[in-house]
Amino acid sequence: MSQKLHKCSKCQGTGYLIHFAHIFNGVCFQCEGFGTQKTKPSNAKPKWDCFFVQKDGTTREWSTNVRCSRESTALKYATQDYNKRSSYPHFANSIGVDSIFVKPTQK
Ligand SMILES: [Zn+2]
Repeated sequence: MSQKLHKCSKCQGTGYLIHFAHIFNGVCFQCEGFGTQKTKPSNAKPKWDCFFVQKDGTTREWSTNVRCSRESTALKYATQDYNKRSSYPHFANSIGVDSIFVKPTQK
């Protein structure tokens, strides 16, 4: 069988997901670490990284894995996600929900 394999759309072919290093050592759950997939990747919408500002003026990132076309929609999801997780230690030094901004994930 000479089926063409495509780069895994989840991990961009690396087989690992940095954000999930704490689960299964970060092995990509979509391709099981092979970095490939049999289905052609769909023309995926951009994924957004979310950031908030901390008390010391630095920014910190978290990921919601949200895919959507518009920045305003991404920000809406980010805000909802932030409100759900704001008690987590990761957000302990956040100056608040108003400091959230989003950027398209760099491939
Ligand atoms: Zn993968």
